[in-house]
Amino acid sequence: MCAAVSAGGGRAAARRTASIPRRSRRRKSVAIAYESGQGDGGEQGASEPQRPRWEPRDWRQQLERIREMRRSRDAPVDEMGVEKCYDSSAPLQVMRYQVLLSLMLSSQTKDQVTSAAMLRLRQHGLTVDSILQMDDATLGQIIYPVGFWRNKVKYIKQTTAILKEKYGGDIPRTVEELVQLPGVGPKMAYLAMNIAWDSVSGIAVDTHVHRITNRLKWVKKETRYPEETRVALEDWLPRDLWREINWLLVGFGQQTCLPVNPRCNECLNQDICPAAKRR
Ligand code: SF4
Repeated sequence: MCAAVSAGGGRAAARRTASIPRRSRRRKSVAIAYESGQGDGGEQGASEPQRPRWEPRDWRQQLERIREMRRSRDAPVDEMGVEKCYDSSAPLQVMRYQVLLSLMLSSQTKDQVTSAAMLRLRQHGLTVDSILQMDDATLGQIIYPVGFWRNKVKYIKQTTAILKEKYGGDIPRTVEELVQLPGVGPKMAYLAMNIAWDSVSGIAVDTHVHRITNRLKWVKKETRYPEETRVALEDWLPRDLWREINWLLVGFGQQTCLPVNPRCNECLNQDICPAAKRR
């Protein structure tokens, strides 16, 4: 899926958005932890005993080896991920809209297909106004064959209209507001915050991150849903790795730790992975 951010993802955006005033961050239903002004473990009363922090066995070594396996940066996500889908020379507001749109298209869709659809959309001028002026049939023809393209046409139109009316054509800059948009889930919201706003609010967990962290037992108990995995990972994974982990594991999942028949024989972690299949 077109769903990762590079290890240094969004830094350029950060430099370019440094002077943009922040909107208020009203909290709704999604628990968010912001980078600034908060410690990793939250506050504990002075008299409360310190609870030893759980962390998975061998995780640092496993992480180092995954970094080694990802060193060549030649997975589909590296070449066609969301960071490669938007026009980096466009005005900031347009760039952020394109990031959000590519994330919406990427759900249940291979990076190659999302990337091609984004290229076609950009050839028609991909802005809030151009999408609002486009009829549904044309939009559907352009984005086909992305997964669930009919639903995505509907969601893209609805979301774009909300952006125009409520956010002056920009995208919201909080996860709480982003997940209120039709067709935008938590993983997309965290990635949008990361790439478009250069703000790490949480770990973006897609199917690759969900699957691999369960295989490596980076979650205390097996988790069933990506959101459950996100909460479990954020409980122990140091905050400075939250941005990198999505990019790292998505590419690793595309090349080595495949959903079916993982290439354990080629994996540097085969001797320390609880799920390794040895043949
Ligand atoms: S040993 Fe196999 S299951 Fe474990 S991380 Fe490597 S590829 Fe995935």
